[in-house]
Amino acid sequence: MFECFFPDIYVKSIFELPLEELKKRGIKALIFDIDNTVAPFDIAEPDDKTAELFEEFRKNGFSLCLFSNNNETRVNLFNRKLKAHAVWRAGKPGVKKLNDAMKAMGANKNSTAIVGDQVFTDMYCGHRAGVLAIYTEPICSRDQLITKVKRGAEKIVLNIYKRRIKSG
Ligand SMILES: [Mg+2]
Repeated sequence: MFECFFPDIYVKSIFELPLEELKKRGIKALIFDIDNTVAPFDIAEPDDKTAELFEEFRKNGFSLCLFSNNNETRVNLFNRKLKAHAVWRAGKPGVKKLNDAMKAMGANKNSTAIVGDQVFTDMYCGHRAGVLAIYTEPICSRDQLITKVKRGAEKIVLNIYKRRIKSG
């Protein structure tokens, strides 16, 4: 009953994305949540390591999008160095803006993956849109208050997911 929140792929961080596997699956567009997926929510700009990683994604042929429920100022400042396609007030888990972003990137649901740290917004949004849903463990334990409230329930869902993966 929780399948709509489960990740298709689970990684510890965006540095562990399985690029070769994604290519094999036909993924061409990577759509990233920002807060606690690409950087801590209270860090305004990506560090050099993250900027280099985005360059590596590009070299591997992926189109990149930042896709955040946060505001325009946050997303644009964060995107200054990364120069990805950027969507703010994304309305996750709604799928309208995700569909728009795929169109703008010349991708479709079969060639797109969403990457995020929250099961009720990022994973659910991905499944509703029919794209590959990749879960990353949250970068830091600092969270906005509203997110903090949801983490308890997230933990329950992720524990069920992990048990199911184990029992195979
Ligand atoms: Mg997040």
